[in-house]
Amino acid sequence: MARYIGPVCRLCRREGMKLFLKGERCHSEKCAVERRNFVPGQHGKDRRAKLVGYGLQLREKQKAKRYYGVLETQFRNAFEKAALQKGITGENLLARLERRLDSVIYRIGFATSRAQARQVVRHGHIQVNGRKVDIPSAMVKTGDVVEVREPSRKNPTILAARDATAHAPAPNWIEVDREALRGRILGIPKRDELVQIQLNEQLIVELYSK
Ligand code: SF4
Repeated sequence: MARYIGPVCRLCRREGMKLFLKGERCHSEKCAVERRNFVPGQHGKDRRAKLVGYGLQLREKQKAKRYYGVLETQFRNAFEKAALQKGITGENLLARLERRLDSVIYRIGFATSRAQARQVVRHGHIQVNGRKVDIPSAMVKTGDVVEVREPSRKNPTILAARDATAHAPAPNWIEVDREALRGRILGIPKRDELVQIQLNEQLIVELYSK
């Protein structure tokens, strides 16, 4: 599956905010948004114009895509499935993205970033309800038990990530047993438990509804 492989701090600078794509570095003074908070490129310092209409909608969509580490096709597919669900489409969209397996691994602290979580899943370290799952976009559902597989329980990357994220509380919709490297999905995340950045998902709905 395709993924973005360019410089990630550039994405945060383009959106003018921290998207927390690089794990611990994002919380340090090395963060590029802290040091150079202007649009990348030769004329970046002159380019932070006030956005309205389509430009504003586009930036919200790009921000969400980059935050969750998905490309346009996957994001669009998630939107179309969200639009078919009952409830508010924008919230459904974010809840779908949040319930991707790579996102869940990140949120329960077995990786320091979604990119690392994606790799942890792709490398076959994770099982769901006792069965190995190596598809980062796999969706978890209520009652699922997500855990690190037995042969990977001493994996230094996963253990280091667990220690580095020990201070971060797990979301209310996941019951986490950090020692057992296990999490259980308690329900669908609510809006205030979703994205940890400022995002107006209604603008994404408006963009795709044109
Ligand atoms: Fe880079 Fe993280 Fe800072 Fe974004 S938040 S600019 S990914 S260090």
